Amino acid sequence: MDDRACLAAMVRTMELLGTMRRPWDVYAVATAQEEAGLGYLGAVTSAFRIRPDLALVLDVTHADMPLAPEHKTFALSRGPVIAVGPNIHPAVSQRLIQTARRLEMPFQVEPLAGNSGTDAVDIQVAGSGIPTGLLGVPVRYMHTPVETASLADIERLARLLAAFVSELDTLDLSWRD
Ligand SMILES: [Zn+2]
Repeated sequence: MDDRACLAAMVRTMELLGTMRRPWDVYAVATAQEEAGLGYLGAVTSAFRIRPDLALVLDVTHADMPLAPEHKTFALSRGPVIAVGPNIHPAVSQRLIQTARRLEMPFQVEPLAGNSGTDAVDIQVAGSGIPTGLLGVPVRYMHTPVETASLADIERLARLLAAFVSELDTLDLSWRD
């Protein structure tokens, strides 16, 4: 499921966007070697090649399970998880949250105080900097052969992304504290 759950959501997003307005060009990228750490290699080279005006990173996060601390996990089937924190452009996370609310979709927020441990780290500082968002779905028993994700969360993630992308022309990325 890590990170095939998000790959499924990405493919579904592109399917949904086929019948929606697309004010911006959209690149769907499946990167290699995120788990290798120490510079997420595929993310670095993909960001360099495409030089996007905005990047949305899809990665799984930990779902609740026995003995896992509650404050570090998310519920299965309660919607996609939207990250907030210094690795994330605030205008992007705020718009994702607004969009989920408008769609009346359940969602969860993951505060990440520093390095998110995902492709978002390298994409954010690629080139002269790329406004980056990070979202995904909870996966139970991460990094084991029995990883478990919710199909409903994957479908919701795709619907959220498609709605976000279809309204990119109205997103103000200038940010003042
Ligand atoms: Zn992983």
